[in-house]
Amino acid sequence: MKKDKIFKIIKKEKKRQQNTLNLIASENYVNKNILKAQGSILTNKYAEGYYKKRYYGGCKYIDKIEHIAIKRAKKLFKAKYANVQPHSGTQANLAAYNSILNIGDTILSMKTTHGGHISHGSKSSISNKIYNCKYYGLNKKGNLDYKNIKKLAIKYKPKLIIAGFSSFSKICNWKKFKKIADINKSYFLADISHIAGLIVTNLYPNPIKYAHIVTSTTHKTLCGPRGGIILSNNKLLYKKINYSLFPQTQGGPLMHIISAKAICFKEALNIKFKKYQLQILKNTKSMFKEFKKKKFEIISNKTQTHLFVLNLKKIKISGLKAQKKLEKANIIVNKNYIPDDKKNSFKTSGIRIGTPSITKRGIKEKTSSYIAKLICKLLINIKKKKYIYKIKKKVKKICKKYPLYKK
Ligand SMILES: *Cc1c(COP(=O)(O)O)cnc(C)c1O
Repeated sequence: MKKDKIFKIIKKEKKRQQNTLNLIASENYVNKNILKAQGSILTNKYAEGYYKKRYYGGCKYIDKIEHIAIKRAKKLFKAKYANVQPHSGTQANLAAYNSILNIGDTILSMKTTHGGHISHGSKSSISNKIYNCKYYGLNKKGNLDYKNIKKLAIKYKPKLIIAGFSSFSKICNWKKFKKIADINKSYFLADISHIAGLIVTNLYPNPIKYAHIVTSTTHKTLCGPRGGIILSNNKLLYKKINYSLFPQTQGGPLMHIISAKAICFKEALNIKFKKYQLQILKNTKSMFKEFKKKKFEIISNKTQTHLFVLNLKKIKISGLKAQKKLEKANIIVNKNYIPDDKKNSFKTSGIRIGTPSITKRGIKEKTSSYIAKLICKLLINIKKKKYIYKIKKKVKKICKKYPLYKK
């Protein structure tokens, strides 16, 4: 039988991943055991419902797997309760909102142009259609403006305040958010999708003590399979969350993914994972320094995480153009809004730089800052073709030295 051409394309994609330097802050390379579990026969099983309360027969092993995943998640995130079934971060958020809000209730969250996520009530999300969405942003210096957030909370009396970002490079003060939420007895949700890996290794504060609900993806810094998770310390809320996820907003769980989540949680409890997260921080700082040296403007002017956003307005290049040109040199980034961007979401005025993927390959500070140098050179000489090809050669050399999925 002829092999499906899809496998040929997968092979090509594997080669692409090997031959490019990936600086997309939300991506990572999972370990082989996670790939193995994801591609297993668990995909064959329907398991609607929860542990020992399923709507289908034949769930005795499924129950074991989900039970282990939950146990490990609780230990890892220091949470009392965990739901490991969300198919993605967006699904986790939707289920979380639906567990505590009614149609038309007010949400206060970060604007997308300032680093909030689409699923936090942006105009293009269904959450915006269901709820009344108000927004806060960063101040001129690129900091969270807690005084202003407090003012907005007093003005709008939101039923829910969301903290959690896709491109904010500094540490968020969860306690301050909780205090603001307490003014009108608002719920407080922390979305740690980007920084989960840093949080579970104590390199970023854990919001679980302060937030009513914590949501996350499992595939970003956490380096697990593509998926979501919901955590809480409140039993009543946990029950509401479970019902809101299934049957209200999702059907059967992806048990192959849940098994891979369980493996990821165990890996993240290992001391090696902390070393990896520490190296992410070091690599990000070394890249940041290089861009500063070359006088690039950086949103918030500091990084305490795995990422930062370059503002390209001064050098008059759109995020889209920078992304395209860098891709020609085998460097993969994503265009990103800068605060109050005048350009639309397809063009934007910035690019986001993140290091989880290159760090996973084994790259350290020296090579990180060298990569930053190459990016600066390319962006500054964006009109000169010869630079692109020169840089591409150098990038390929680095990729060869740090292989993915050896053998
Ligand atoms: C990535 C992200 C999500 C959504 O993740 P998906 O799995 O793509 O739905 C949610 N919130 C934040 C803050 C994110 O960065």
